[in-house]
Amino acid sequence: MALDRKQTAFRNFQIMPIDANNVNFEQAVVRLLVLLHTKGKPITATTKDFLYPEDLVEIIKEDNIHFEGVNDPTRERLMKNWISSDYATSIAEGRDRSAKPRISNFKPIHLSTIKLLDPRIRSQDRDASLFLYNIFKGTDFTTHNELFMSYLIQGTKKQGEYNLIVDEKDINELDIETQFLLRLLDRFRVDNPSTDRKKVVPEYKMLCEAQQKQFLFDILKLLVYKGVIPRRELLNYIIIALNFHTALFVLKSFFLINNIVKDKKPRCKTCKTIIGEKDFDKLCHCEFQPKLFVDLTLGQDRICDNLSKKSVEVHHNEMYRYFKSHYKLVKVAPIAHNAGIKEPSIEHLSAILDSPAVEPYFQVKLSEITSDEDMMDDPDVQQILKMNIPSIDKYVDIIINDKSNWKVRVRNHKSFLSTLCNMNRDDGFLQGGRGRQRKYVLGNLLLEVLVQLAVVDYKIHNESIAAYTKPITIISFVEWLKNRYGIYINEWLDGSDSPETAKALNNNFLALKDRLRQLGFYTDLSDASNSQVIKPRFKVEPDSNK
Ligand SMILES: [Zn+2]
Repeated sequence: MALDRKQTAFRNFQIMPIDANNVNFEQAVVRLLVLLHTKGKPITATTKDFLYPEDLVEIIKEDNIHFEGVNDPTRERLMKNWISSDYATSIAEGRDRSAKPRISNFKPIHLSTIKLLDPRIRSQDRDASLFLYNIFKGTDFTTHNELFMSYLIQGTKKQGEYNLIVDEKDINELDIETQFLLRLLDRFRVDNPSTDRKKVVPEYKMLCEAQQKQFLFDILKLLVYKGVIPRRELLNYIIIALNFHTALFVLKSFFLINNIVKDKKPRCKTCKTIIGEKDFDKLCHCEFQPKLFVDLTLGQDRICDNLSKKSVEVHHNEMYRYFKSHYKLVKVAPIAHNAGIKEPSIEHLSAILDSPAVEPYFQVKLSEITSDEDMMDDPDVQQILKMNIPSIDKYVDIIINDKSNWKVRVRNHKSFLSTLCNMNRDDGFLQGGRGRQRKYVLGNLLLEVLVQLAVVDYKIHNESIAAYTKPITIISFVEWLKNRYGIYINEWLDGSDSPETAKALNNNFLALKDRLRQLGFYTDLSDASNSQVIKPRFKVEPDSNK
């Protein structure tokens, strides 16, 4: 007999709130919108019929007050295709996927799109929405939350507790696309959320509060553009930022959780001193901040290519160590349960690791293994049992060293990272797959979002704090990326003193300049690098954001 499911069980919300597997981030955002709207209650059932893109075309045809021009088969077909590709995410169900694709959710362009979320279609959000909701709630950012919420529901008003309907006073201020969407959605209701108290989003407290603050603040910074960038594009920026920060959160968690189990150090001192926007530059001093060398030369420079691959490797190795740390915390959870703590926090669990109850508990656990003949015949298991280490380590080592279990962990976590880092996509920072070794890069769309974040600043204007955008030098942008996000471009932690590496790092910097120039963020006026400034695509004046 091999290990059973209970022995290899890994999942624990308090340790890693997102289930490590391939995440569909769009679905996570749709569900986040639901939770923000209902204050933490998921929608788990609906009374609506299945909905197909052509049903929406019918509404457009019938509603002569708000829509016109869809009156012949060609236009109907165009409309149907437009809805399918631009607004709706449809799923073809059935074993062979031959069934007619039905709408699973609308793309999150406005909060009203939650009206068409079909909870009967299984989501692959892997609880990422629960994590995101925890980021937003219960912080001193609540008033700013309202800023986000009011943007999300703009043009609508509440009807009853949960429904949203068109607000005739406001709707004309919106762009035509959002108006179209709201008129279309107006005849649908927001489903009532579940009243089951067990389904309410569980609490999750981030190990690094500074990371949470920066996460939120970046969303607020993007909202500075709400009058400037069209809604669809700005929400896309926001989703990219949410996604990017979630990926960084997961990478940083590997380091933090390893630390809490191995070194039992208190939370990092640096991050405690990070309070406001100006302090985020200090994140680079955090010893748990993941550092990513990104290759911008498209693999042209061998050294850059190599450095970016190595930095993925470092993170993978940290992740493998994290499997063990995670297992140790998960496996002591029953001790907390026996003591009456239902959902022990990560601090609870790590405190239990030091308790005298651990050794006898795991001696019993080990005896389950030693009483199994097949397990005892395994040379690896024998080897581990002979080691002079605490029983919990023996027990966890046996679970980790189980080949099929290890394979599952590695596979799931690698899909987890490839989906969260948006591998091989413009909005991501990872490249690889199909046998290629993974490396860090910067997709154009992500780069664009980062530029728009970097140029936002605040000043006192008419006696209040006003946000505006300012041109910044490329040098300061590169510093900003390193200080805040651990993204390295023209320097690296070791080896930059060799002339070859120095040349490679400079090539990477030149490649960034090329990319920024191609994206239209920058024009080369002179060779002096301090006069080379990035000009954002979208600009905000202190006055324009009232
Ligand atoms: Zn820290």
